[in-house]
Amino acid sequence: TPAIAAIAYHDGEFVPLERAQVPVTTQALQYGTGVFEGIRAYAQHDGGLAVFRGHDHYLRLLRSARTLRIEVGHDAAQLTGLTAELLRRTGSTGDVYIRPLAYKRALLPGTPPGVQLQGVSDALSINAFRMGSYTDRGGISCAISSWRRPQSDTLPVRAKVTGGYVNNALAVDEARAGGHQDAILLNSRGQVAEASTSNVFAVIGGRLVTPPVTADLLEGITRDTVITLAADLLDTRTDQRDLGREDLLQADEVFLTGTGSEIVPVIGIAGRTIGSGSPGPLTTALMTAYHDVVRGRHSRYHHWLQAVGSA
Ligand code: PMP
Repeated sequence: TPAIAAIAYHDGEFVPLERAQVPVTTQALQYGTGVFEGIRAYAQHDGGLAVFRGHDHYLRLLRSARTLRIEVGHDAAQLTGLTAELLRRTGSTGDVYIRPLAYKRALLPGTPPGVQLQGVSDALSINAFRMGSYTDRGGISCAISSWRRPQSDTLPVRAKVTGGYVNNALAVDEARAGGHQDAILLNSRGQVAEASTSNVFAVIGGRLVTPPVTADLLEGITRDTVITLAADLLDTRTDQRDLGREDLLQADEVFLTGTGSEIVPVIGIAGRTIGSGSPGPLTTALMTAYHDVVRGRHSRYHHWLQAVGSA
């Protein structure tokens, strides 16, 4: 896996990554008032590199930004264009992870110091780094976190807000301290919300089930991809309904979905074995379908892939 050039798009220009810095007075650093995305680009089976569902990620970034009154200054098409340009300049040919960040920067002249969203300037930065699949295809064990996912009238959990990830970090920390790889968080009603950086699916009585967006979770793009692929390719509908802790413990299969983690089988939860203790048949079929789709092996989903092109 070849290294890529350390270049970022920062404050309107492409600069060496070491120059993509922020001052300590940055509002987002102090108050967590930033929004971000995680996007992957994949080496295609027939050569070249393509960004997977970049447009959808940028639409979500723009929705997140509206919640925090951040002016990104570009529409989704411009942002996907900037991303392709960044990948060309970094010389990326293999799998890459892209991290766009839009954030509250500095108080405008005349704005008194304080926690506020108006009277503060905005900034945009995008960087990328080499990242292949890191999924443990054999499956992971998850804790059920004692940290609850905040209710969306406490924190906008459907927006990908930097400050909100304190909750996720605490949950991962607790899970790791207990010998697990990840955490599943319940919402304030005690129903399953999501994992630390992924959505949760279960196979129960031959049906695929995932919590609805109203369960206080991020509406994952991988979640949508999996729902689509299950219906189109595996003739399996997904029920979006509340899942309790017990539903997960008794499920035949459980897996997580996210851009970074892709599809990860969960073979243990809170010390119990899930299903047979190894990745189940529907999980395995979805993993295969997903990897084929992101590498461009299914022409039906080429509209999800944006070719980066060469410099
Ligand atoms: N939930 C949370 C809290 C996340 O951080 C992520 C990763 N963005 C996801 C779910 C999965 O979202 P996606 O499939 O769009 O990456």
